[in-house]
Amino acid sequence: MAAAWQDVVQDVVRDAAAVREAAAAAVDAALLAGVLMRTGEQPHASDVVNYAPFTLLPSAVPRALFEQAYAVQQDFNLLVDAVSQNKEFLEQTLASTIKVDDFTARLFRIHMQVLEEGLAQTVFLGINRSDYMFDCGLDGAAALRQIEINTIAASFGGLTSRTTDVHRLVLKVLGKTEEASHLLPNNPAKGLALGIAKAWELYGSQRAVVMFLVEDVQRNIFDQRCVENELWNRNIRVLRRRFRDVWEQGSLDASRRLFVDGQEVAVVYYREGYVPQVYDQQNWEARLLLERSRAVKCPDIATQLAGTKKVQQELSRPGTLEKLLPGHPEAISRIRATFAGLYSLDEGEEGDRIAATAIADPDRFVLKPQREGGGNNLYGEELREVLEKIKDSPERTSYILMDKIKPQPALNYLLRAHSPLQVSECISELGIFGVYVRQGRELVLNQAAGHLLRTKAVEHADGGVAAGVAVLDTPYLV
Ligand code: ADP
Ligand code: MG
Repeated sequence: MAAAWQDVVQDVVRDAAAVREAAAAAVDAALLAGVLMRTGEQPHASDVVNYAPFTLLPSAVPRALFEQAYAVQQDFNLLVDAVSQNKEFLEQTLASTIKVDDFTARLFRIHMQVLEEGLAQTVFLGINRSDYMFDCGLDGAAALRQIEINTIAASFGGLTSRTTDVHRLVLKVLGKTEEASHLLPNNPAKGLALGIAKAWELYGSQRAVVMFLVEDVQRNIFDQRCVENELWNRNIRVLRRRFRDVWEQGSLDASRRLFVDGQEVAVVYYREGYVPQVYDQQNWEARLLLERSRAVKCPDIATQLAGTKKVQQELSRPGTLEKLLPGHPEAISRIRATFAGLYSLDEGEEGDRIAATAIADPDRFVLKPQREGGGNNLYGEELREVLEKIKDSPERTSYILMDKIKPQPALNYLLRAHSPLQVSECISELGIFGVYVRQGRELVLNQAAGHLLRTKAVEHADGGVAAGVAVLDTPYLV
């Protein structure tokens, strides 16, 4: 019989020598397994690399909530896909936001321009990650609450495919062999590659390649390589190119087939393009070229817009899901069961009221702008100050408010290069990867493709792994 998980953790925490030995074994296992990142000092080459930060121990995840998150993933795939195809919904939902948020406005303009020209793309590929926290109610019971859904460049599916083996080894080193045997297999890299390969196949040209659209600074290259190498294993050619390369070497032919460096591109897999800072005029032109092309974009610009926080907030309005997914009442109730309270800050009485409530009680809320990548949200006193300042200005509309989720902390060790080994109070965020492929109007693939658990010390309100706050983890179901 496996002991209760918190007893296992208590047991480990008491034995400092065993923890040190396990941490040393863990780091070496991570390096051997390929849980890697380039270093901040040498981000442009792989001569010097280090392990990606991770927890020493797996973290407890309530089994029922884990299963709930998997069970709703196909519904979320369906929903994102429906939103991306609903021009009126995106237009209405983002109307107030694009008046004040330049980045969203620019994306939206490309979206409209591409629709006006008429879509050349006929195959659609979605890779998303729906993220959740476990909200601790007054009665002590935990509930699954969606934090957000990432519809572009959802990362760490590659590295997390390799962390389970590391945690299994660590548990064995700590004498927890029974517990080690309970860790679930997890391989999002394979699932994501399956979706990309399916889209490539439906595009229908053996010679065409998959292009990973990558950043200038690629510290997380190994995560991407995990997916890339799965494609090479299937004899699908992969190019890695930046927006700048596309601007210099990209072109469309008369039927809007995309060519980069003379090679036809079947699928563009964006691991870049979700923050305003990367876009200068040339990169915007490159983005437009890609969006106008026949190539399968993962995601197309409409699907990127479907992942904005403003859309998330509007989806939570009574009646919206029913309009977007007619004939799917069960999917709707599964989706809605994961929603936290979300509030519009649009001008008007509704926005005035919730702004006043949040100013009076900021710790109940998170204030979110239309940005991705971590570190953009506002909490507590800072939330109050910013909201005070913008409450009577149109700028308020570029944000949404969300109920703050309060998970039960648990002890763990965050292993990070050059950091001391110490026990921390931690909270975790569970992500489920979703993959779908649509040809014309027909969904030909719709699956959950694996999970990602990220854990951070409780004192950090915000931030993911790439932002240097959270670390990779493995769920231990309880
Ligand atoms: P981003 O697009 O920057 O990843 P998120 O909405 O995922 O934005 O927020 C970033 C981080 O902030 C999350 O990973 C989570 O740790 C924290 N966070 C976001 N929303 C909430 C919330 N409602 N309650 C508690 N923490 C939150
Ligand atoms: Mg996030």
